[in-house]
Amino acid sequence: MGQHSTSDQPRDSAGTNSTPPWRATVITLLPDCLPGPLGVSLAGQALKDGIWALEAVALRDFGIGKHANVDDTPAGGGAGMVLRADVVGPAIEAARLQNPNTPVLYMSPRGTPLTQTMVEAWSKGPGLTILAGRFEGVDQRVLDAHDIEEVSIGDYVLSGGEVAAMAVLDACVRLLPGVMGQPQSLAEESFSNGLLEYPHYTRPRSWQGRDIPDVLLSGDHQKIADWRRAEALAITEARRPDLLKGVK
Ligand code: SAM
Repeated sequence: MGQHSTSDQPRDSAGTNSTPPWRATVITLLPDCLPGPLGVSLAGQALKDGIWALEAVALRDFGIGKHANVDDTPAGGGAGMVLRADVVGPAIEAARLQNPNTPVLYMSPRGTPLTQTMVEAWSKGPGLTILAGRFEGVDQRVLDAHDIEEVSIGDYVLSGGEVAAMAVLDACVRLLPGVMGQPQSLAEESFSNGLLEYPHYTRPRSWQGRDIPDVLLSGDHQKIADWRRAEALAITEARRPDLLKGVK
């Protein structure tokens, strides 16, 4: 397990880590969703170790009137409710004060599809501020008024942006220095070299009549590397030929 004690992390005279944590702020109607799955395993340990920090900005705190309303019917009619600009706007401003200089994302099915390249870039920055939508979405004016990047986690519709925000954060946090036990596995996994990953095997050597490919037991590192590359190419060609553009 990667700890704060990795040598690439600066330390102060007390021996504690002096690097500011990678900081995530999620603007949400449901702050109790957090940290959810990000509170366990690698991300959870890294959160405890202070490698990254997570805070929620609760949209309800910016609600209007006695009932702290956050949504209203869509202008022009139609089904569902829309998160109000005069609620989401102040919430974004509060989040920006809390977590300055970070990109602000709005999780949205119509956003730019999330890629490992985007995740790598964000993980190298100071952190992220993420707006999780609910209902039919957010008043367009608030998206226009702030420098917001709309990001989608796939061509399907979730009931809210919290799960999508957690997907983005999970993908970023595992790239932070000190989070992964074996950083070299990051270099070999899907998308990092433009290819999907080769298949994995472990004990037992034979299972239900299926054997581990002989080459993986040969001890010949070059042959194993060649086999893995060929498998990665074949899988990518079969499943995601679009990724092969630009792969040498
Ligand atoms: N009316 C919206 C549309 O048709 O595009 C869908 C709204 S959805 C029910 C509620 C919220 O879930 C959205 O505002 C967004 O924050 C989030 N969401 C849903 N699907 C998503 C996806 N594929 N990627 C990222 N966020 C998504």
